[in-house]
Amino acid sequence: MNPVKYIFVTGGVTSSLGKGIIAASLAKLLQARGYRTTIQKFDPYINVDPGTLNPYEHGECFVTDDGAETDLDLGHYERFLNVPTSQANNVTTGRVYLSVIEKERRGEFLGKTVQVVPHITNEIKSRMKLLGESGDFDIVITEIGGTVGDIESLPYIESVRQLLWELGEGNAITIHLTLVPYLAAAKELKTKPTQHSVKTLMESGIKADILVCRTEHELSDELREKLALFCNVKKEAVIQSIDASTIYDVPNYMLQEGLDIVALKKLNLPKRSKPDLTNWNAFLKKYKNPKHIVNIGLVGKYVELQDSYKSILEAFVHSGAANQTKVNVVSIHSEYITTDNVAEKLGGLDGILVAPGFGERGIEGKIEAIRYVRQNKIPFFGICLGMQMAVIEYSRNVLGLKDANSTEMNPNTKYPVIHIMEDQKKITNKGGTMRLGAWDCELKKGTLVHSIYNQDMISERHRHRFELNNEYLKDLEKAGLIASGTNPKTKLVEVVELKDHPFFIGVQYHPEYKSTVANPHPIFVEFVKATVANKK
Ligand code: GLN
Repeated sequence: MNPVKYIFVTGGVTSSLGKGIIAASLAKLLQARGYRTTIQKFDPYINVDPGTLNPYEHGECFVTDDGAETDLDLGHYERFLNVPTSQANNVTTGRVYLSVIEKERRGEFLGKTVQVVPHITNEIKSRMKLLGESGDFDIVITEIGGTVGDIESLPYIESVRQLLWELGEGNAITIHLTLVPYLAAAKELKTKPTQHSVKTLMESGIKADILVCRTEHELSDELREKLALFCNVKKEAVIQSIDASTIYDVPNYMLQEGLDIVALKKLNLPKRSKPDLTNWNAFLKKYKNPKHIVNIGLVGKYVELQDSYKSILEAFVHSGAANQTKVNVVSIHSEYITTDNVAEKLGGLDGILVAPGFGERGIEGKIEAIRYVRQNKIPFFGICLGMQMAVIEYSRNVLGLKDANSTEMNPNTKYPVIHIMEDQKKITNKGGTMRLGAWDCELKKGTLVHSIYNQDMISERHRHRFELNNEYLKDLEKAGLIASGTNPKTKLVEVVELKDHPFFIGVQYHPEYKSTVANPHPIFVEFVKATVANKK
């Protein structure tokens, strides 16, 4: 068997240069050349996973089929590669230390002083090799979070250094992503920050094999030569990553720059065929040539930070392209929606998505928004908390259960139409204890959701503690709310919908996590279609 090859991606100069997109784009090209490729992310923070992080801190928490709460870059990996990731694809410093400390408590290092080197670095290295050892991949790309020179990145950089040495030349390479800033006053691109960043990497014993340079302007030949000379890389390994109008252009940009070819050469791997990007480019063509434009309101409480709803926004890109429609997402802060202003805020929109979320803030605005779109027949799509709020709105305004609520918001409500699951009541730890990951859901024949999926059984990812209270189900159904999807084992309601409405669906799960370029999520596709039909 051929040895698994490893590519390590580090970042320099500043954060937010888009390491995740570069890693995903390279992986896409290698995959399109027929290499089984995966990407993993190592994050230098001490949280065991990002599940306990407020979205304002770190953007969305992405959930995998196996129920891991992970960094949002894993969402990009899945959207680009159309291959599911898992817990093994995301490791944090917290998780590394936790497992080393647990081993220490079990006595596995008995007699030894447990230290960063070798114990933490050994743990990191073994996790870096884990997916490679599964036999499922030819190439493993590892993205190192943070910026070189950061204190907290040091154990990762040292682990990469050791692995490069252990795996040997031709089996593992490093790509360093840096910024080449443009100084408007001097009208010049500057290479010095890149030189310094490469030097910092070198101080840790790592020589960059490939430089990917983020830039707002084309890199001239001269500048590439200068970077090559001062940073000790071949000129062909100086790769320009110019600002793109969409992240989905980046694989083509990297193809033009030859990033995949340089990487394969350094890994002693054959080029094989030219990457087949037919479907990818067909998607891009549709995305860039829309026939319609719709305005969809995204009602949520984390709307100030776009990354909080990353997967939802990307799902609109995929489903918009599928409909040759430009989806203009209008962020609406749920906290400021009231009975008096709801018509003014939502009246002009072609559809409304009520977002997932936690806690009380802004929920009355969500309920009011749902009442408005239900009564005014504006397409509605509620996800997780959005579905729960739809049930509350229906209970209050159609069933007449005044002040019906979720026990998350009001533990003493008279009508707990959304409540906590029995097995969740005893849980006191917050991290990783929600209902997480993929669960089956049985769809009722003859319903809207069944016609959308065209399947009797589906599997979707979850991340929540609260559920529709089945004690109210009969009354809700009598009043016209259709429970069109249920968990076959637990009988928990996963989908609700309404008849006599152009489109009204609430789902307890998170369909946005499974939307990819190759497979736009069907509910998003049909929702966008309904908004086009509803266009004002
Ligand atoms: N807060 C709700 C719950 O825990 C909804 C969670 C969500 O929207 N992801 O059930």
